[in-house]
Amino acid sequence: MSALPFLPFSRPTIDEDTIAAVGEVLRSGWITSGPKVQAFEAQLSDYFGGRPVRTFNSGTCTMEIALRIAGIGPGDEVITTPISWVATANVIIEVGATPVFADIDPVTRNIDLDKVEAAITPRTKAIIPVYLSGLPVDMDRLYAIAKKHNLRVVEDAAQAMGSKWNGQRIGAFGDFVSFSFQANKNLTTGEGGCLVLNNADEARLAEKYRLQGVTRSGVDGIDVDVLGGKYNMTDITAAIGLGQMKTIDKVNAHREQLARKYFECFGDEFEAQTGAQLPQQAFGSSNWHLFQIILPDQGEGTRANFMTRLQKEFNIGTGYHYAPIHLFTMYRARGFKEGMFPVSEKIGRLTVTLPMFYEMTLADVERVVAAVKQVLAK
Ligand SMILES: *Cc1c(COP(=O)(O)O)cnc(C)c1O
Repeated sequence: MSALPFLPFSRPTIDEDTIAAVGEVLRSGWITSGPKVQAFEAQLSDYFGGRPVRTFNSGTCTMEIALRIAGIGPGDEVITTPISWVATANVIIEVGATPVFADIDPVTRNIDLDKVEAAITPRTKAIIPVYLSGLPVDMDRLYAIAKKHNLRVVEDAAQAMGSKWNGQRIGAFGDFVSFSFQANKNLTTGEGGCLVLNNADEARLAEKYRLQGVTRSGVDGIDVDVLGGKYNMTDITAAIGLGQMKTIDKVNAHREQLARKYFECFGDEFEAQTGAQLPQQAFGSSNWHLFQIILPDQGEGTRANFMTRLQKEFNIGTGYHYAPIHLFTMYRARGFKEGMFPVSEKIGRLTVTLPMFYEMTLADVERVVAAVKQVLAK
């Protein structure tokens, strides 16, 4: 058992100024959606090159609302990846459409765009790519496919706040782009999310869908013309977001330093010596939301043994992102089964997320790598 303190795989950092700002909101008499939400949305819009942005209470409803704005529903197919948080596929079912999976690329671990093209049918209406660990897909290719087949794109950029493609921020271009501010994400508000939209009409619709479909006018005018839900962000939450906007670029730069240190400590021989697989060295592109390695396959229990040993012998926490969605009971009931997406199934069984968060030090990385090497050595 390690004498060192527990090192979790993720931990949020909320600075004292942000905590004070939340206190101010609580004392202000206005704690639901108000001026802080508007200010947060304005800052997010600036961050994403001036595109319209609306905030919500999760990075799940953002995607559901994007699908609704696109008019996607029963009879429509939406293509996505099996390796994501289950929210990504659930929202497709939520709007009454049919989820269609395309397997992932073994190197990027993101949806394989060749397989996306192969999965397109006359009923396909949209693609939901996921930027796992903050690594974008080939965005030029993605939008070329969407254009060619006349498809909408709802980018699940939940993990990609501050990631870039050819120097441009994810969210600053493209179709719908959805971000999550859940506690583990690079920018967090506890829970929350935002959706980048294409124009003012879509933004108005997003406002309706997030608040019961209501439109207000004049002094006491109110109407409801679409079925909305209750998805608005509060000013308490937005105050946290405003505090986090000040540090996001610093946070991402530090994560990049940690990632460089990981590669340096693992060294060039690590993969050949252990049979494990490191992530792509996507510097300048990924925001290093997660640092994930694929374990060498030692049969059933490979990952559970690895995670247990890191925890028990080294006091280091790990995670797994993600179990393949198509093998969950609810998806099996829709006809999905083992063998359909072999790359996803293998990576879903062997992927492990190592610690990566703002307050981690380079010495913490050394500690993790030494422990991983020791566990894989025997
Ligand atoms: C976090 C996450 C979500 C869901 O976001 P919530 O804010 O928790 O609803 C969806 N997709 C991916 C890839 C995520 O990482």
